[in-house]
Amino acid sequence: MQMIQKDFHMHCRFSTDSEAPPEAMCEAAIARGLTEICFTDHQDLGFEEPGWFRFDPEAYFRELEAVKRAYADRLQVHIGVEIGLIPDNPALAREAEALARDYPWEFIIGSTHQIPVELDGRTCYVDPADPADAARSWYHFPTVKALMSVYFETVLKNLEQFDFCDTLGHVDYMCRYVPKDLPPYRYEDHADQIDRILRAAVRKGTAIEVNTGGLYKGTGKTNPEERIIRRYLALGGRKLSFGADAHRPEHVGFGFDTLPDYVETLLSGR
Ligand SMILES: [Zn+2]
Ligand SMILES: [Zn+2]
Repeated sequence: MQMIQKDFHMHCRFSTDSEAPPEAMCEAAIARGLTEICFTDHQDLGFEEPGWFRFDPEAYFRELEAVKRAYADRLQVHIGVEIGLIPDNPALAREAEALARDYPWEFIIGSTHQIPVELDGRTCYVDPADPADAARSWYHFPTVKALMSVYFETVLKNLEQFDFCDTLGHVDYMCRYVPKDLPPYRYEDHADQIDRILRAAVRKGTAIEVNTGGLYKGTGKTNPEERIIRRYLALGGRKLSFGADAHRPEHVGFGFDTLPDYVETLLSGR
């Protein structure tokens, strides 16, 4: 199988959770044998901490355009964004749409990082991957299944309510973060919900991302897991994007050489 040579999901120091210089990410990509990358730094909507997971797009384009030029003869560099979406909120939707429209992003990942919980009589969005929020999310719900149902429902709403996404980021993302003392997440419990997401993606022409971040986070799985990708293909989906979700140079293109044969099946058009 020919290795995937395009990593279209990575973060550099413009993301709140990365300190990586963009040049270091480019050097790592070249060392891994990649031909094309896309920076997709975080723009998450609705975080309660002001300024978290936001960056100044003007500064981002200024710096990355220079990086793009500097590497032009060795690596094709694209400038994209990962937008963390929140459904059912007209003000945030307008903000997201303006962000998507007002800058020349070459690629937009639409991701669901936060889920709604009722706290003190109002709906808050929380991220279980954030240790400060963990007690407000996983243990707030009666079961893992209940939380993951809310997660997939939120993913579906985001897919239906936003039209600017080129790909849907790590569709089962939240299952990465089930605490070890709780029963494991099971795909079977959510197969119908996931089918609704995949059918909507096929209908809208939105790609599904194969995110290899779980392979270095120790889950041993891509997100979404292989059977969800296979299901997407079975439902007629043909658009996949690939990304290692690197926040550090050593993770650029991580696991691309071990991606299973469904990729080969797809690339060969069979
Ligand atoms: Zn993400
Ligand atoms: Zn990411």
